[in-house]
Amino acid sequence: MTDPNVRRADLTALFAHASDADLADTKAYRLQSTPRQTQKSLAILALRTSVSDTETPTSNQELAMAAQETDIVIIGGGHNGLVCAAYLAAAGQKVTVVERRGVTGGAAVTEEFHPGFRNSVAAYTVSLLNPRVIADLELAKHGLHIVNRPYANFLPTSDGRYLLTGGGGTTAEVAKFSAQDAAALPAYEAQLETIADLLRDLVLETPPNLTSGSWRDALPDLLGAARLGNRLRRLTMDERRVLLELFATSAGEFLDGWFTSDPLKAVLGFDGIVGNYASPYAAGSAYVLLHHVFGEVNGVKGAWGHAIGGMGAITQAMQRACVARGVSIHTDCAVEQVLVEAGRACGVVTATGGVIRAKRVVSNIHPRLLFEKLVDPAHLAPDFRARMTRYKSGSGTFRMNVALSQLPDFTCLPGPGGHLCAGIILAPTLAYMEQAWIDARQTGWSKAPIVEMLIPSTLDDSLAPAGQHVASLFCQHVAPELPDGASWDDHRDTVADLMIATVDKAAPGFAASVLGRQIKSPLDLERDFGLVGGDIFHGRLTLDQLFSARPMLGHGDYRAPVAGLYMCGAGTHPGGGVTGAPGHNAARAILADIRRRR
Ligand SMILES: Cc1cc2nc3c(=O)[nH]c(=O)nc-3n(C[C@H](O)[C@H](O)[C@H](O)COP(=O)(O)OP(=O)(O)OC[C@H]3O[C@@H](n4cnc5c(N)ncnc54)[C@H](O)[C@@H]3O)c2cc1C
Repeated sequence: MTDPNVRRADLTALFAHASDADLADTKAYRLQSTPRQTQKSLAILALRTSVSDTETPTSNQELAMAAQETDIVIIGGGHNGLVCAAYLAAAGQKVTVVERRGVTGGAAVTEEFHPGFRNSVAAYTVSLLNPRVIADLELAKHGLHIVNRPYANFLPTSDGRYLLTGGGGTTAEVAKFSAQDAAALPAYEAQLETIADLLRDLVLETPPNLTSGSWRDALPDLLGAARLGNRLRRLTMDERRVLLELFATSAGEFLDGWFTSDPLKAVLGFDGIVGNYASPYAAGSAYVLLHHVFGEVNGVKGAWGHAIGGMGAITQAMQRACVARGVSIHTDCAVEQVLVEAGRACGVVTATGGVIRAKRVVSNIHPRLLFEKLVDPAHLAPDFRARMTRYKSGSGTFRMNVALSQLPDFTCLPGPGGHLCAGIILAPTLAYMEQAWIDARQTGWSKAPIVEMLIPSTLDDSLAPAGQHVASLFCQHVAPELPDGASWDDHRDTVADLMIATVDKAAPGFAASVLGRQIKSPLDLERDFGLVGGDIFHGRLTLDQLFSARPMLGHGDYRAPVAGLYMCGAGTHPGGGVTGAPGHNAARAILADIRRRR
């Protein structure tokens, strides 16, 4: 048992003074990743392994044939596992990735869900993927092409009008509803951008870990905390107040303070309830809103785009980057146990009894799956285990794909047009979103649900036969677990019909155009992807589960409470989304420990 002695601090102080705990490591890490060093590492790897650029993952059977040895084994081939593997391999480590599913990519995958129709199965739109990760893994060279969406959002209103944002026309569109809101919008965006910039600076940093011990142990954390303190000091007092508001209040209250018109508040506030099973007036939802604006697409800050070929194109490019660096990848290969000897993680056992021994073990999976299923409780402190059972995980997300014979035709804006390339939000007001949450709490789902629809085939003709289309329906505010012990398996079709009927109400004829559909209830998301409670972020993005406290205070630096065991998934800083940041940051922490011979 090696649970470090955690110095408790109140969370306000944490966010006021924290900074990059691995600052001292960063310089050396970058040195390790310089092209010359990388070339050298790759050359060594080329001698040591016979992996070729075109090699595909091997199956569980091949793996089970012999006990394997590697420097580092990564549990889970989600995008963060792949990013972590690529960085570690570039630094000369022999890395093995083991993935439970038949394909790598985790929640960022593309599938043919109806004959001739392909789409992203879970994650469906890109913005948060870190530019440094894109560059370092040379994802463009490995086939990734991301395009910007010409319009941001299209929101039909309850009185038969619409709001269409992006494409250079936002101010005029907002002015249709409120001249005052149109005038206030630039200042709102500038303020949010300043805070989003701060967040962008932090996503690739390791949060200070707040451990106690000798001054030598604490030094990197102290340096990191001082650096963050300096960054915060650069904010004006007004900006610091906004930062506090965004971390502590609700999206609804924040937006009510700026604007009066319902459609604008609904378009902006939708980000506060994505994956966040809460009212838009729940404290903490303003942070979830912020979490969705720190990304960028092709240099355009805050924009959302589309990966040609769907989200699987991102993870396939990552897999190619891994293979090119010599990473060994095994699919259809669930890990059942983390091996711990003399208090140190030293490998994994797979479901078929295969053993992979390694100097270090890295987990890309949900923290609760790791600590409740794979690590023997004898190796974890009782307090840690008890807290982990209380780690909050559950989104109100119901995800569908539909194959369409034709494009939808909206009553409020008939015919084809740029609005069909936007994120189409069917939830006209924040009050509507709040009611959907209240209904879901009481009965499992609302008769007036929240649906965001994206039609990626308007930007990507590789997804559907000519003249036909695919749409992603990202529906919010169903209960992660149904009341009275009811199972989602008994209700998923009813709710899928409701989601389609909701679109049909705004675009009559939509239901008749549906040729096929794929449904992912919260239970499906848990079973298929290992997302506990269907949580799209590997755990809720609440203040008590962010930054140094993700997944738990004292383990915010990617190091688990067992020596040699690390975490690199969305259950670590900076949380969920297809960012690559946890994978990047975990690799840096692991390389720092290798250097220090820990
Ligand atoms: C419906 C939905 C919509 C979303 N939409 C978006 C979006 O549009 N844009 C965006 O940026 N983000 C989106 N997200 C969030 C984003 O997809 C996730 O936060 C992100 O994919 C997490 O990546 P990860 O690599 O940390 O984990 P995961 O993608 O969850 O990967 C973990 C991997 O571990 C594997 N695994 C689990 N247990 C084991 C085991 N015992 N042995 C071996 N392997 C195991 C799993 O099979 C999986 O492949 C969405 C998520 C969902 C579910």
